[in-house]
Amino acid sequence: MSSSASSGVSDRFSVRGRGIPRQCKCGQFSVIKTSNTLKNPGRLFHCCPSGSEENKHHLFRWTDISMVEEMEMVESVVEKIEGDVGSLAKGLHELEAIKERAERCEKEIVYLKDVVSLCEKEVQELRSFKNMVVCGGLVMAMVYYVFFA
Ligand SMILES: [Zn+2]
Repeated sequence: MSSSASSGVSDRFSVRGRGIPRQCKCGQFSVIKTSNTLKNPGRLFHCCPSGSEENKHHLFRWTDISMVEEMEMVESVVEKIEGDVGSLAKGLHELEAIKERAERCEKEIVYLKDVVSLCEKEVQELRSFKNMVVCGGLVMAMVYYVFFA
């Protein structure tokens, strides 16, 4: 069996010479053929249209072997995706916790605003009470001045 898929293949599954080869080193795209040799009758292989089973200068790979490699690579990609999904789920959970905290803060802010407006009312009432006391004092002083001075 010939060694590797080509260099310069953009497909990530073939860059390292593993998985289903898409292209030969010579630039031609691979084709699937069926072996009719006595040693491998009916066995599928990927090859270069310009190559043959004996020609080491062009792509030749048994499809069953490439398929196993492809499956292994797909498996590792799936594992990575599963890991990513796991961390995304974790991030989502954290986001929800942050959202809950933010909602609680909003409620507290609304409550504090109420407290502040109550305080403002009390301050106003105290001010008018003070004014009344001052006015009352002035009236008393005038009454005292008019009648007893
Ligand atoms: Zn070729």
